[in-house]
Amino acid sequence: MKVAVIGTGYVGLPTGVVLAQLGNDVICVDKDPAKVELLAGGTSPIYEPGLEELMRKSTAEGFLTFTTDTAAAVRASDIVFIAVGTPPGEDGTPDMQYVKAVARDIAKAIDHPIVVVNKSTVPVGSGDLVENILKEEGADPALFQVVSNPEFLREGTALWDTQNPDRIVIGAKEKGAADKLVELYGPLNAPFYITDLNSAEMIKYASNSYLAMKISFINAISRICEACGANVADVAKGMGADKRIGAQFLGAGLGWGGSCFPKDVQGLIKISEQYGYDFELLKEVWNINEDQTLHFLNRIEKRLGGFSGKTVALLGLAFKPNTDDIRDAKSLVIIDEVQKKGGKVKAHDPIAVSHVSKIFPNVEYVEAIYDVAQDADVLILVTEWSEYKQLDLNRLGACMKQKVLFDGRRVYDRATAEKAGFEYYTIGSN
Ligand code: NAD
Repeated sequence: MKVAVIGTGYVGLPTGVVLAQLGNDVICVDKDPAKVELLAGGTSPIYEPGLEELMRKSTAEGFLTFTTDTAAAVRASDIVFIAVGTPPGEDGTPDMQYVKAVARDIAKAIDHPIVVVNKSTVPVGSGDLVENILKEEGADPALFQVVSNPEFLREGTALWDTQNPDRIVIGAKEKGAADKLVELYGPLNAPFYITDLNSAEMIKYASNSYLAMKISFINAISRICEACGANVADVAKGMGADKRIGAQFLGAGLGWGGSCFPKDVQGLIKISEQYGYDFELLKEVWNINEDQTLHFLNRIEKRLGGFSGKTVALLGLAFKPNTDDIRDAKSLVIIDEVQKKGGKVKAHDPIAVSHVSKIFPNVEYVEAIYDVAQDADVLILVTEWSEYKQLDLNRLGACMKQKVLFDGRRVYDRATAEKAGFEYYTIGSN
């Protein structure tokens, strides 16, 4: 099939690459000429394991091209995906300006029947919004149908997730439009859930908010565990063995961040408000998450007797491993707090340094992992990159001013850390 994907970010690019791998003719569009130039030259502007290699292969085989020209891509395609950002506006409501702009661009180019697919995470009613923009901008209603197809991929495993989705949700007004997507995704052999537009849009917000709730729940339990002397890891294991609960998303830690959970939790709170429902449960999910990081920082501050004059070393900056995405990363909160209180921050991350250094130029970024610990008063494990799991703790501790380790992701074994001479603190156990 002939496909256009508009927006080549963490969602659009893996989507385009995988659809091309399946043998479709895919044109990926971005408004940023620098990105398109990089992509056309075989370089991915985002870090995602395996993505660049597959992208180059599909490009070489002639299934994948890149352009800034939305109109040309629309005219050459039967299915047009909208995969641009929907960041939170000032009050948390998803900002639809990019989706609207793309809809206006599509409208001007429609000259044959197409299906327009909302893949961006958009509030309930956005299918109708896009349809209305297309009509208002003069597109012939006989030539387009709007479909919702929310995306569930996870950064860091985006390719695998796109190739092996748990389910494919399609919201449509007419069966014919949904059938086009069923045909497109057929080779993936995933179960389809075909609904009306509003339900498909709600499935995405409800799913992400539920997952965020699960993490906030175990983080709340971690607080009680710290106070009563229980171990949250054992509690999570015991809970997760119950099939009704499930073991996933029960890892206590510094809290959730990234480009989706914070935005979608906030978004659903606002959407609920607009429909007259005060989603207090979700507000508390948010509060627990904010508090989790601050509580951890308070413990560190207390142990050090204040941050002023102290050197704080961070292992990891990305919001999670295997991505360079730092949107709403916990590292940003930690750096900000420590610097505000007069502390010095040193940091290591395998790939996210260039993004964080734009926000915090006054951090000392190191390339070699062990250098981060040099003269530090405390080492904080922020992101559980696999390369941090096997570090030689004796070597790390040897160059520190004080051998204090705060493990924000429960990566290290307490006995091993203590044997290496560390004072070891983590989340949800003494
Ligand atoms: P992103 O910011 O990484 O990428 C968006 C891209 O769209 C950018 O490259 C930008 O230049 C481009 N763009 C913006 N306006 C454009 C226009 N008018 N024409 C052409 N290109 C334009 O965003 P993302 O993380 O890929 O997210 C996209 C959507 O998918 C969001 O709604 C998000 O909530 C949702 N989503 C994201 C993830 C994730 O893990 N990142 C997962 C599921 C769903």
